[in-house]
Amino acid sequence: MSLLSVEGLFAWYGSAEVLHGIEFQAEKGAVTVVLGANGAGKTTILRALCGMVRTRGRIEFDGRDIAGMRTDRIARLGIAHVPQGRGTFGDLTVEENLRIGGYAAAVADTDRAIEQWYDFFPRLRERRRQQAGGLSGGEQQMLAIARALVAAPRLLLLDEPSLGLAPRITQEVFRALSRINAETGTTILVVEQNAHLALDIGSSAVLVDAGRIVAQRPAAGLAHDESVRRAYLGY
Ligand code: ATP
Repeated sequence: MSLLSVEGLFAWYGSAEVLHGIEFQAEKGAVTVVLGANGAGKTTILRALCGMVRTRGRIEFDGRDIAGMRTDRIARLGIAHVPQGRGTFGDLTVEENLRIGGYAAAVADTDRAIEQWYDFFPRLRERRRQQAGGLSGGEQQMLAIARALVAAPRLLLLDEPSLGLAPRITQEVFRALSRINAETGTTILVVEQNAHLALDIGSSAVLVDAGRIVAQRPAAGLAHDESVRRAYLGY
């Protein structure tokens, strides 16, 4: 069953149309991976889901059309976004960043939610009083993910979580995402250049090219498909 279903979605930056009627689904409780070359429109898809760009078309989340809704309302309905570059506040402490996650989604018991994610990411608990800007890249990515999860979203959107991270740290981030999905059942939609890692934890992949969806396919075996490999995995 789909938690998210996108149909005939267009998006614009000013007068430039960058999504041309796209269509895909994210299955409830699954990890869906969005693959495509630079500039294909992957980031814009996530921004459109959050109400951050002008759109036309249908975005059905849990049976309700959220297209055109305000970003804060979409967040309260249960969609959390970890943007490219993480969006953490470097001069605030780790804990203050996590509090913002609770505030943004009007969480009833933020303290409890923060403790839950400290249990999951013990490094963040150790560094709770430190400024986020002093964390390593991997820790900042974990913080950005934890901040989104404090809101207990039903759909977690991630834009290139591996950006700027060493391969070993990227693996850790993907292991964490896989555990989050398995342990909490949170539905995940992840844009990722590092297609192999993403396909490993994903059940379905959406292939994007020049603002259009080329196909949505099961993730299993996709990394070995010759045409997909050349077009989307870059080797
Ligand atoms: P990347 O992997 O490089 O992040 P992407 O697949 O996420 O690429 P988008 O960032 O969604 O692609 O960009 C889609 C298109 O929209 C590109 O042609 C890009 O140049 C254009 N674009 C992106 N942001 C803006 C903006 N703020 N104003 C105008 N055009 C934009």
